[in-house]
Amino acid sequence: STFLELGIQKEFVKGLNELGIKKPTEIQNATIPILLNSKIDFVGLAQTGTGKTAAFGLPILQAINTDSQYIQALILAPTRELAQQIKKQLFKYTKYVENKIFVETVYGGEKIERQIQNLKRTTHIVVATPGRLIDLIEKGEINLSKISTLVLDEADEMLSMGFKQDLNRILKYTGKNKNTWLFSATMPEEIKQIIKTYMAADAARIE
Ligand code: AMP
Repeated sequence: STFLELGIQKEFVKGLNELGIKKPTEIQNATIPILLNSKIDFVGLAQTGTGKTAAFGLPILQAINTDSQYIQALILAPTRELAQQIKKQLFKYTKYVENKIFVETVYGGEKIERQIQNLKRTTHIVVATPGRLIDLIEKGEINLSKISTLVLDEADEMLSMGFKQDLNRILKYTGKNKNTWLFSATMPEEIKQIIKTYMAADAARIE
């Protein structure tokens, strides 16, 4: 199928085409219709390089209410490089979209003051590494009360980098009024535990 047939709006399709993204990958075909049409928790077993950024990114972008100034989606990634890469991709997908969608990254190794300043502007989507996000939460400098989607990207990598406690805290802190979409290349016991503890029993799964 095509991105249009999957339910992606033509403004986004135009941006995708310009990036050479014309035919949905397997994971995009399987995931996009599910994530576009239902408010559900989701578990995706997915390797890197399969197109999963667009698979979760497009449904998130299409659900953003640009009349609101609040953060509506939070994407967690294991490294600064991946966080930057996700933001860059999302930005490019929105090139032809009329109402601007604001994406911010927060990660360690850069002055927190600058990130705090940036978060005072309208921000619809935050892409974050777990440690720095916890710092911002503790300082009271990020408002996650209007989050409707939380994405854990490369969840197994986040665990191997020692972010288990931070993830648990973020999952608790972001409350019950959100859907969680977890992507992981492997499903070790610790990931299964997170799914069991924080996600709906009827979460959709792609494996
Ligand atoms: P990801 O797995 O999301 O990191 O994507 C890996 C690379 O594949 C990125 O450079 C994407 O821009 C590219 N890509 C994603 N979806 C497609 C697609 N449907 N067709 C061609 N390239 C794609």
